[in-house]
Amino acid sequence: MSLLTIGSVAFDALETPFGKTDKIIGGAATYITLSASYFTKENNLVAVVGDDFPQSMIDDLNQHGVNTEGLQVRVGEKTFFWSGKYHNDMNTRDTVEVQLNVMEDFDPVIPDSYQNCQYLMLGNTAPAIQRTVIERLHNRPKLIVLDTMNLWIEIANPDLMTLLPMVDVLVVNDEEARQLTGEYALVKAAARIRQMGPKTVIIKKGEHGALLFHEGQIFFAPALPLEAVFDPTGAGDTFAGGFIGYLAKTDDISFDNMKRAIIYGSAMASFCVEKFGAERIMNLTQEEIQARVSEFVRLSAFGLV
Ligand code: AMP
Repeated sequence: MSLLTIGSVAFDALETPFGKTDKIIGGAATYITLSASYFTKENNLVAVVGDDFPQSMIDDLNQHGVNTEGLQVRVGEKTFFWSGKYHNDMNTRDTVEVQLNVMEDFDPVIPDSYQNCQYLMLGNTAPAIQRTVIERLHNRPKLIVLDTMNLWIEIANPDLMTLLPMVDVLVVNDEEARQLTGEYALVKAAARIRQMGPKTVIIKKGEHGALLFHEGQIFFAPALPLEAVFDPTGAGDTFAGGFIGYLAKTDDISFDNMKRAIIYGSAMASFCVEKFGAERIMNLTQEEIQARVSEFVRLSAFGLV
């Protein structure tokens, strides 16, 4: 089934306890579409970059089967830039600098060939832009998944509140869930979010896995205990791309299949953190992904006798 992803395509500068990068390719939609490319062949991107964005990266996306017809390249303008620095625990980070550049007045245009997509991933960007995409689709997709971040909860709360009833699944991390609801306990936070609109809520807990809340049912997916986490940037987006990519591939949005999708998303995220930026998810094989999913199964399988 076809997937439409919207979100940032960016230059990132990163600093982790393991090293530093100059500008490398990043952005929520970059990670999402790359991750989803291992599951679905109908992988459509809507985003904006400046003419400083390398054609070679657009070629790489195309080679992964990502349709970039909806990627606007603005001549004479600069690509969105984000720089972040991780603390020693790698679970927390500070935004050092943001240059909105082309994102400042991004007006998402949906090519005709993207209409009728069944799966919509609203990757990280301003809630007003995410909403515009829903409004510009002629038919409501079968499943709409929304990602957001602390910045939008803080500065665009009313926009976010009008968007939440329009989506099926919200994906946030534990701190964002607490910030959005004022509830510390994640079970209570998920219940509050479900009252705000989305019937399914996924709360990511970094190296401690992810929780899926769906109509009174809860599922917990562990994160793979890795020897070294090199750079967590994009792990959340890679998780979301694996999750929705798997659902688009299997075209089954039942709770049981969402559990499998969360494991695939977690497996993809576990690769992402092994190298800087998107490097590790550029050249994965189906065998590597399957082997990692099997590790997740082994990690949490047990018998009572
Ligand atoms: P994650 O580590 O999954 O939270 O996502 C990291 C990516 O989010 C980076 O590649 C950034 O380019 C992107 N990003 C950071 N801040 C923003 C923002 N305000 N809007 C859109 N994308 C952002």
